[in-house]
Amino acid sequence: MTEASRNGFQKEAVFKGLTLSKGIAIARVCRFNEKRHSNMEIYKVSGEGLDREVSRVRRAAEVAAERVEAIRKETEEKIGKAEAEIFSAHRMILEDHSLLQAIEDLIRKKGTNAEAAVMAVLDSYEARMRQIDDEYLQDRAGDFVEIKNRLLDILRNTNPAFQCVDLAHCQRGKNRIVVSTELTPGMTVELDTSHTMGFVTERGGSNSHAAILARALGIPAVSGIPDIHAEIACGAEIAINGDEGEVILWPSEKTVARLKKMAGGIVRVPSAVDPVDGFAVMANINLASELDEATSMRADGIGLYRTEYEFITAGRFLSEDEQYERYSQVVKGMQGKPVIFRLFDAGGDKPLPFLESGHEENPALGYRGGRLLLGHEKLFATQARAMARASVHGEVLAMYPMVVDLEQFILLRSLFLESAAGIDSNVKHGVMFEVPSACLDARKIMREADFASIGTNDLIQYLFAVDRNNALVAYDYSPKRALLWKMIGSMVRACQSQGKSISVCGEIAGDPKYIKKLMKKGVRAVSVSPRLVTGARVAALEAIEKAK
Ligand code: PEP
Ligand code: MG
Repeated sequence: MTEASRNGFQKEAVFKGLTLSKGIAIARVCRFNEKRHSNMEIYKVSGEGLDREVSRVRRAAEVAAERVEAIRKETEEKIGKAEAEIFSAHRMILEDHSLLQAIEDLIRKKGTNAEAAVMAVLDSYEARMRQIDDEYLQDRAGDFVEIKNRLLDILRNTNPAFQCVDLAHCQRGKNRIVVSTELTPGMTVELDTSHTMGFVTERGGSNSHAAILARALGIPAVSGIPDIHAEIACGAEIAINGDEGEVILWPSEKTVARLKKMAGGIVRVPSAVDPVDGFAVMANINLASELDEATSMRADGIGLYRTEYEFITAGRFLSEDEQYERYSQVVKGMQGKPVIFRLFDAGGDKPLPFLESGHEENPALGYRGGRLLLGHEKLFATQARAMARASVHGEVLAMYPMVVDLEQFILLRSLFLESAAGIDSNVKHGVMFEVPSACLDARKIMREADFASIGTNDLIQYLFAVDRNNALVAYDYSPKRALLWKMIGSMVRACQSQGKSISVCGEIAGDPKYIKKLMKKGVRAVSVSPRLVTGARVAALEAIEKAK
């Protein structure tokens, strides 16, 4: 397992497994609830009760066989005849007289209920298959697990298709990477596979029926990762590198970029969903070339364009025209939706070799953000002019990074306006709230600024004096701290009191578990990595539904 830091609190971790189905997927986790039958009620029966339990099993087997037949037909249509045969085999097992007889015998001999007998008999079939010294037959063991679960679901009247362990994140596998102990064929087909991004399992060989199906459906899948449930929580972001049998928990931006490059752009990411009324989900981008990712997710705008990455990628300063070309491409592409340009925010954790700032003892508190802009007038002026020119194509908002107080904001804005004088533009000027001194004075600042966005990545770092990139102190870098939320609430109120808009663009906005909390604090707009737009929208919709 390797480790690298990702925004301080989400650690990248790499697990090596076995490729079941090639391809690359990046999405949130939905854990399949295989333990749903673990607390099965076991009780004694006698007399007429025995007959009742036997007929319950027979009826369940009939219903299961009908269901399996329907899945067989669906598989034949969706995938192919050969793959559909898997379910013919399941049906034969369900109709097999010796299986039903074994269950009936157990009920009568032990005086036990139908569920207990089904479990005992099918567990013993599964165990026997696993002991056979033949990889192909071992892989068939999963079929008995599936048949057992199917019968138990019918007997217990539980939902057979999908149950997530943690309902707060459950989308029944939709737009998710499904994590389970074993990928059974029925699960593979019964899930809405057109919306399932990938599979990660503890066991299951490449000959298992499920692996065959995953390959046929073109869904990346990796298995052979022991105790995966203990490592990966519902809602966590993971990447599957099916080509190399790797699963990467909380992949860093660098890893995501590498995987995308490897896949030549063919990455399964969540499909777009409709915008949510009253809750804007915009996209964070670093380069103009990422515009397509934002538009394909139907983002409500660009809530954070980290313009410094254009310079980092180019490895040099960019001229006003070069910047204009990139900026106008984004503004035009967003077709009137807002584009928030974060002005050059190098320094600190993003040193630039071509930017001579000398050695700094404490770069996080040094020559960066607004300070650096004020010290590099030419760089600032070219950015300002390029943005002002791009504003003829749509809604351009200029956001100043690491603003420390009102005076600094006013200075930055006046320099921008001075530089862009003579250009017919309509740029709005806003503050990135990520330094506590500015956050504490939000009300005063918002009388002047047109809008604000909360950068929680740095805000957590500076508020709690904890390095966002230091693995040693990562345990202390937590978005759960009450004071952070108190501060978010007060900034939202400060903006509301002045009738100004505010969004949240730090990593917490991309984590569905914080969306509801942000909404409770009055946040009505977030900006997240393009591939997390769908997840944020789904979480917002869930919160709206629950509040009804
Ligand atoms: C932030 O600080 O929260 C933020 C969004 O900006 P960056 O991660 O680029 O510092
Ligand atoms: Mg920041």
